[in-house]
Amino acid sequence: MKLTEANYYSREANLHYFSVSQFKDFMKCPAMAMAKLRGEYEDRATRALLLGKFVDEMLTGTRKSQMEFIEENREDLIKKDGNYYADVAQAVGTIERIKQQPKMMHYLNGKHQVIMTGEIEGVPFKIKMDSFDENEFIADLKYMKSLRSPNLFQPMIKYWGYDYQAGAYQEIVRQNIGKRLPFFFDVGTKEKPAHLALGEINQWNMDEALDVIKKNIVRFQKIKTGELPAERCEDYDCDHCTTTKIITEAIDTDLFGMSTAQIKAMKGEII
Ligand SMILES: [Zn+2]
Repeated sequence: MKLTEANYYSREANLHYFSVSQFKDFMKCPAMAMAKLRGEYEDRATRALLLGKFVDEMLTGTRKSQMEFIEENREDLIKKDGNYYADVAQAVGTIERIKQQPKMMHYLNGKHQVIMTGEIEGVPFKIKMDSFDENEFIADLKYMKSLRSPNLFQPMIKYWGYDYQAGAYQEIVRQNIGKRLPFFFDVGTKEKPAHLALGEINQWNMDEALDVIKKNIVRFQKIKTGELPAERCEDYDCDHCTTTKIITEAIDTDLFGMSTAQIKAMKGEII
């Protein structure tokens, strides 16, 4: 299957290829990942997603694609009085500050939205890069809440699984051009004032993340093709498991709000 800008996110492409977001879905909850593939479940179309696309478009798009993006999303971006909504205006301010940072802009000035495919452990894999220079780098733009990790014991990049993105992208690019390129993150935060950062993920982190992908992807592919059952995570924060749960018996009230892993740990079972 040949991937293009038009079919990259299609159901057919997602069935044929793995992607980083799909891999992360399977890591979190195979049942949710499969429901998504069947078209039964979608991530909430959040404002965060729209703002991320807006920042990406304004920094890496062409004049034409920027106009199209604003036109398509006019109601969500611009108030009736013609001004931007407050969060969009804040994003515009941050975009202007990033534009004043030559080093950050350097890594955004590669080829944009470059699609490549390859295989990891024999499983077809697709990637789409924000910015790519075949002689120098792979770069990704993140417009996010904070540079701080929500988990004190885990670096931010690892908490959000961005190390999987870097590791997989580097590997697929290597398969295509024969070179291992460094991976950079251009980050702007939604804090007031916005923090700006340029980060390079170290090779050790990418190797470790790619290793985790290699260790799991064949099993996930078997779930995808129906050879293995798609387990439910039953985690409290999994929208799919929450909305499809069938209650078969009463549980001890002390277990309310706990994840499957926590309950197993409480009962002394090995996780
Ligand atoms: Zn789940």
